[in-house]
Amino acid sequence: MTPNALNFSGGPGALPEAVLAQTRDAIVALPETGLSVLGMSHRSDWFRAILDEAEQNLRHLLDIPADYAVTFLQGGSSLQFAMIPMNFAARAKAPPEYVTSGYWSNRATAEAAKVTHRKVAWDGRATGYRQLPALDRLELAPGAAYLHYVSNETVEGLQFPVCDSAASAPLITDMSSDFLSKPLRTDRFSMIYAHAQKNLGPAGVTVAVLHRGLLERIPDGLPAILDFRTHVSHGSNYNTPPVFAIYVLTLITRWMRFDIGGLQAMQRINEGKAKRLYDTLDALADVVTIHAERPWRSQMNVAFTFGDSRLDDEFIAAAREQGIVGLEGHRSLGGLRASLYNAVTPQAVDTLSDALTEFCLQRA
Ligand code: PMP
Repeated sequence: MTPNALNFSGGPGALPEAVLAQTRDAIVALPETGLSVLGMSHRSDWFRAILDEAEQNLRHLLDIPADYAVTFLQGGSSLQFAMIPMNFAARAKAPPEYVTSGYWSNRATAEAAKVTHRKVAWDGRATGYRQLPALDRLELAPGAAYLHYVSNETVEGLQFPVCDSAASAPLITDMSSDFLSKPLRTDRFSMIYAHAQKNLGPAGVTVAVLHRGLLERIPDGLPAILDFRTHVSHGSNYNTPPVFAIYVLTLITRWMRFDIGGLQAMQRINEGKAKRLYDTLDALADVVTIHAERPWRSQMNVAFTFGDSRLDDEFIAAAREQGIVGLEGHRSLGGLRASLYNAVTPQAVDTLSDALTEFCLQRA
């Protein structure tokens, strides 16, 4: 296995080998134009076709209805933490509601507070961010602008088993770390967004899929770059978009459609990988603790620690000797985290699982 294949980083992370090879060639010369992808104009016919294909691939994979817009934005998911309340809170009857279930949803909630009144619909702090709420049972104010939550908490390794809900407010969901890992009922959401650097490509582009009805809620007077209407009306080509990142995203979505065979197939692969690693960790339960409680275990990010915390660093070092990298836990939580994004292969997860078992056997 190549070094890339054993990259369990929380993101940017592993990309499929086939896409890396195509990207390498495209940096020198694109087969279609003979020019480097890094020197392609964002106003070229080639790039218009790439934008169009990226959108079509996403519409196909996620079954996105026609009354939803697909946009490619910059500023990462962090810019969305600010843009969403700026665009969608002002004209509602009641403030937006936020689920704070871990590190990233806390960031979203804090940013919203700088822009608007917002309510906290649920807070996982008291239980150490090891659980998630039942979204359908949250008590939301009538007319709430929207309900914001993070479908997969990347740091704590918590994931809603069913990520949509029948909550009474429009759903706006940060799917940065589980987007395109399984099929989705897109029509249940008002907006979903995800940066590319987990399952979609390199950092630099963020996908937002939003119901066109939301656009009517935007107050006038926002700076153009922060107004969703600008990006929708310019087809994500208002100012210079990240051509390279969108190109790689297009290759990845092609890979998912035509090599993997769609999101159901992707889900089967991802479920198999997560089961393999959780089974391994459960068998080592005497020495290892998984951060998330069982019903909310993430299939994308597995956060865990050894009971003896010295072993965290020892295992990270032992794994590195075998070429296994990216296992350090997030700086806010410590411990270890194995991220099992789409491009991480079942073979790589076998290698990691075997390494864990072997390490614990040697120390028993
Ligand atoms: N949301 C989630 C769920 C994340 O995992 C991250 C980063 N890992 C962010 C938001 C922040 O994204 P960005 O760095 O693109 O601003």
